[in-house]
Parts: sequence; structure tokens; C-alpha cells
Amino acid sequence: ATPTAVMVGTGVGATQGVLIKGGQALEKAHKVNCIVFDKTGTLTVGKPIVVTTKLFKKITLPDFYKFVVAIEVNSEHPIAKAIVEHAEKAAEGDEKNPTWPEARDFVSISGHGVKAIVQDKEIIVGNKKLMQEHNIVIPVDAEETLAEAERLAQTGILVSIDREIAGVLAISDALKPSAKEVISILNSMKIKSVLATGDNWGTANSIARQVGIETVIAEAQPEVKADKVKELQTSGYTVTMVGDGINDSPALVAADVGMAIGAGTDIAIEAADIVLMKSNLEDIIIAIDLAKKTFSRIR
Ligand code: ADP
Ligand code: MG
Repeated sequence: ATPTAVMVGTGVGATQGVLIKGGQALEKAHKVNCIVFDKTGTLTVGKPIVVTTKLFKKITLPDFYKFVVAIEVNSEHPIAKAIVEHAEKAAEGDEKNPTWPEARDFVSISGHGVKAIVQDKEIIVGNKKLMQEHNIVIPVDAEETLAEAERLAQTGILVSIDREIAGVLAISDALKPSAKEVISILNSMKIKSVLATGDNWGTANSIARQVGIETVIAEAQPEVKADKVKELQTSGYTVTMVGDGINDSPALVAADVGMAIGAGTDIAIEAADIVLMKSNLEDIIIAIDLAKKTFSRIR
């Protein structure tokens, strides 16, 4: 394409909130035939809410939440924010400004959960892997609650108090309304869709089924997401990664075209070649169409 065509293409993108960082990004985007999607905040709205709380020990709901919130107020994860918000709402009826006990020795285990001491009890909140790593036995009824959550495309979170499972929370994060249609349009454009998430396999597969994605990688740490991108490139695909989080940035860099979506974190925006300013998945198609139009004019 001529420099003028690239300038026009970039300009048209900007008017629609599609920021293209230079001609090279646009050129690569016209060859893309595979898109790797992050889940939370990319395919989903990214505003998770607590939909179920099940207790498996003799403990009152307020006491249970006291421990969970004391630890989760220290975490930046969207799941942690959902839990704190849920507990604050529940406590509002009882007291004006609910207060939570202090947590000490707080640790965040990336992609797995959180751990701390609250009122001399060891509290661990996170996924099944985290519990298994601490040799915590998961009772059958807790397993069933987790499985049911996963079937519903929700994320099940386990809570252990002194190495005993005390409860399970089910967290729901709605799909973006256009997700299914966008995947189907990409399909018709002969562009393969892949889901890459740090969430568990059950939830990931349920989400993928709902939107029509066949290739899934779950329980994926940031480097594993990037490795998946590289593997797809090795098998001949020109790959776009779409994500919003810090944990997506290695994959955004590895991809032929990294797209940061929505009010993504600064680090994701920095790592990307194209920024989709609005949170709309449709803008992926707009960006690719624009690239195709720009780079077919000269042939
Ligand atoms: P995602 O790709 O969905 O953003 P992450 O790698 O951030 O995934 O987290 C993976 C999983 O680790 C979550 O689905 C959750 O089960 C668990 N997890 C992470 N942080 C927390 C937390 N603060 N509280 C509870 N669970 C957490
Ligand atoms: Mg995300």
C-alpha cells in the first residue's frame, strides 16, 4: 500500500476507536487467519458477580465472609473485587460500615488464588489446584458444587480454613452480547478462533461451547498463553491475540498482531499493535476489514 493509503486506513480506524500503531500493524492484520481470545474482560464483560455460596462446615455465613473478605481486600483480581462487593452488600443491612479483620502474611499465588492468616487461622481462597498443592481434601459435595458451576460456565472458588474446605463460591461473568456472532463471522471469513484462559478447563470449555470456539487452552499462565500463540505460528497461522490484562501481555507481544481491548490495563495497551478503545468485539472485524481494504488497493 502507498503511505497515503496506510494513512487513510489508520485515520478511518481512529474515527471508530480502533487505534493502529503504524503501517506495519495494518499490513500484518490483513493476513491474520487465527485469533486467540482471552476470556475474562475480553469474551466476557469482566464484571464478575458472586451467584452462589455453599458452606460445608459449621460456620455462619457472616463468619465465613469475614475470613474471605479479610483476605480478598488485599487482591486486585476481578474475582476478589466481586467477593468483597458481594459481602459488603450483604453486610449493609446489619451495620453501616462493615469492618473486616486484618490479614497478615498475605500472599497472592498468580493464577491460583490467595493465602493469609486471619485471626490466627490459615485462610486459603482459590482454585482446585491451589487446594491440591496444600494437600487439602476436597469433599465430594464441594466437588459437585464446583462441577455444577463449571457446567454453567461459572468459576468455582474454594475456601479453606485451617486446611479444611469451609465453602465454595460460584462466580459468574456474563458473555459480551456480540461474542457468539463475532466468532461466527470470523468463521465465515475462514479465521480460526482459539480461547486461552487462566481459568479451569471445565469453565473454559463451557464458555467455548457457548460461543462456538473449538480450540481451548485453560489453566494457562501468561507464558503459556504466549507459547500457544507461538505454536499456532509454527503450524503456519498468522495470529492475532486479543486481551485486556497484564497476564495477556506476553501473548500480545508474541502475536503477529496484538490487540488490546477496552479499558485494558496500561501494560496490555503498551504491548499491543492495535488498541480497540471501545470494549466491542466487533471492532476486531473492523480492524481486519480495514487492513484488507488498505492492502488490496495496490494489487
Ligand atoms: P484469567 O485468565 O481468568 O484472568 P487468572 O490467571 O487471573 O485467570 O486466574 C486464574 C484462576 O485463579 C481464577 O479463575 C481463580 O480460580 C484463581 N484466582 C486468582 N486470583 C484469585 C483471587 N484473588 N481469589 C480467588 N481466586 C483467584
Ligand atoms: Mg482478561
